[in-house]
Amino acid sequence: MRQRLAAARLTDIAEKLEAGERLTLEDGVRLFDAPDLYAVGWLANREREKRHGSRTFYNHNIRLEATNVCVASCLFCSFARLKEGDPGSYTMSLEQAWDKLRQRQHEPLTEVHIVNSLHPDLPFSYYTDLLAGLKRIRPDVHLKAFTAVEIAFYADLYGRTDEDVLRALMAAGLDSLPGGGAEIFAERVRRKICHDKCDGDRWLAIHRTAHRLGMRSNVTMLYGHIETPEERVDHMLRARALQDETGGFQAFIPLAFHPDNNQMRKLPAPTAADTLRVHAVARLVLDNIPHIKAFWIATGIDVAQVSLWFGVDDLDGTVQEEKIYHMAGARTPEAMTTAQIRALVDAAGRQPCERDTLYNLIPA
Ligand code: SF4
Repeated sequence: MRQRLAAARLTDIAEKLEAGERLTLEDGVRLFDAPDLYAVGWLANREREKRHGSRTFYNHNIRLEATNVCVASCLFCSFARLKEGDPGSYTMSLEQAWDKLRQRQHEPLTEVHIVNSLHPDLPFSYYTDLLAGLKRIRPDVHLKAFTAVEIAFYADLYGRTDEDVLRALMAAGLDSLPGGGAEIFAERVRRKICHDKCDGDRWLAIHRTAHRLGMRSNVTMLYGHIETPEERVDHMLRARALQDETGGFQAFIPLAFHPDNNQMRKLPAPTAADTLRVHAVARLVLDNIPHIKAFWIATGIDVAQVSLWFGVDDLDGTVQEEKIYHMAGARTPEAMTTAQIRALVDAAGRQPCERDTLYNLIPA
């Protein structure tokens, strides 16, 4: 492998990693530019195995997307509808939302993952009641809910601080934050693709506050649209800097841009090679975030399976009824059973480990 790394001009980066030195912005960009994808993947796999050996994590969860009515107009979004009553718009009643969990009440679920659009007319009590009702149905289930973009929107809409919103949601049952809404932190990209939602600094500040209040969270990156390699690495470095401060991120989750039914439909979807490389570079740059997750709904199942040799150690979960990616043309199933995930991991020569949201292992 040494010769191959030398031919790819990656020897100095390999040596830095061996010495436990941090990679720089320039190193990260070189990893994106290096033609030898396998060499980059080999380095990422070495880092993955240092941390987790062969273990590959997944969880038994469901998705809940309670409304898609949204005042924002992100160019990559196929999920949102501007107003109630627009074709394809929906807002669940609280009973309908609670029913999603009631229907699976007897399954060994450990997590409900809730993400919504930015609805201008719902009262704040909709969200606190939503959480409290879910906790009444299954007090043991972890509620990972509301992106930082939603938290910022609620704070502005209801005239509260970001911290107040987080505290009120925690009192109602919120256990942790998902990593969505991060997109790309760079201002140039954000101005173009999602100008009317919270900026990168506020996204990071909300996660900083959430970590201070005792919650854990994740961080995503939407890739494969107009961002440059520099902007990808810059995004990773901003997440790494916050992680140095708080230690509150559990996983980094690259999210592939899907071009169907949105305003960026002229762009191609990212290739499998790009997807593998993004996950690999993330493993190498993000030396302080424990897990790199392939969200199989977005990458495709086959690529997610191969990514387990390119730095990835987590496959998200069973998901159930995902809408955001499927409205953007994802051809993956909307759910996998835990048996299917285990078989997928086994077939890749890795060791499947069921976890809860906080990475406690669930006995098989
Ligand atoms: S990505 Fe989120 S905030 Fe942006 S338009 Fe879609 S639902 Fe709204």
